[in-house]
Amino acid sequence: MLSAKMKRSLALCAILAFLTPAAGKAAFFRPDVRPGYGVTRRGWLSDYHAALKGTNLDTPVYYLEGRKPGATMLIIGGTHPREIAGHTAALMAIENAAVSEGRLIVIPALNASGYGLHDLSANIPRFHKIKCRSGHRLLPFGDRRVDKADQKMADPGQYRHQSGAIIPGSKGGDGAEMRNINRNYPGLADGTETQQVAYGVMELIRKEHVVLNIDMHEADTPTWYVMRQNGKTREGGRLAYMLVCNPKDAAMELGAEAVIDLSDRLGIKLKIEPSNPAFCGLSHLEIGNATSCLSFLFETPNPGQDDWRENPDVIRDTRYPLEHRVGLQWEVFQELANLYNEYNDQHLVIEGMPDYKTLMNQGVGAWLN
Ligand SMILES: [Zn+2]
Repeated sequence: MLSAKMKRSLALCAILAFLTPAAGKAAFFRPDVRPGYGVTRRGWLSDYHAALKGTNLDTPVYYLEGRKPGATMLIIGGTHPREIAGHTAALMAIENAAVSEGRLIVIPALNASGYGLHDLSANIPRFHKIKCRSGHRLLPFGDRRVDKADQKMADPGQYRHQSGAIIPGSKGGDGAEMRNINRNYPGLADGTETQQVAYGVMELIRKEHVVLNIDMHEADTPTWYVMRQNGKTREGGRLAYMLVCNPKDAAMELGAEAVIDLSDRLGIKLKIEPSNPAFCGLSHLEIGNATSCLSFLFETPNPGQDDWRENPDVIRDTRYPLEHRVGLQWEVFQELANLYNEYNDQHLVIEGMPDYKTLMNQGVGAWLN
């Protein structure tokens, strides 16, 4: 006879087995998005590449269209599902922004497949509770790559870009990077599943005549820390606060002016660098090279990406709270859009979004439905 306790634990195991996807079977994921009045239409990435339809790789696309025609710009969040500030900034735009002139297109969770997975690098929980206008809500946190189960081709020993090029350095050459969307631009219509997602984004940019795009990312924080291996101190990542710009003159000039203006206004030192042509497959490089779109990527500091931290808090870290990172993501995009408007006849005019200081005072939840 089984004791009541044993029966309970057997029942619990059965429930857990039901909830946890079996190895090799990818989990289904669709983002929790609560659109505001500014959203005029919703579509899918598969509208631009039909092969994605009905797969774990398809993902929703939101359109905020002004009455007055103008410039079309694109925000990409969730290329890497661990980088929670980009996804949250994209959500905030969908839930608050109102466009009076031009069009804003937002993809809040590009790597839908990676959101179906638990973070494989730091074992951070898949959902994070925050208080928002409707009560509590969960922000998702996934793995940076497309799920193995969603890509038919097994990872090769070494990453190789579709052009045949190999990225220098041991990390860049990891064969698993074949499932990193931000190593697989411009993508291929009949390529791997990851290349097809990148191809879908390229098709959207071409068909919608996107003039400027930003890919919102996060990196490890620039904090000094003690290394476990040898007890020596070292500074964290150099990428945080970096705006990476396609080397085209117009993108570099816009990026440089945005970084100078914002560093002055916010008192936070932002940095700029051109895409490195040796690192092929990255969005800012390949989108900017293949189209006339001015292409950018911005990195905020995420404590969840510091491998030296014991229990990182990706929402409420005292030095790098979510509002600091989401506020910066939005300010950088808004500044680039404002500068674009200054130098071009076609404009994108957005209302209804909080600036950095408002977000720091009120918190992210005050700006999510
Ligand atoms: Zn990233």
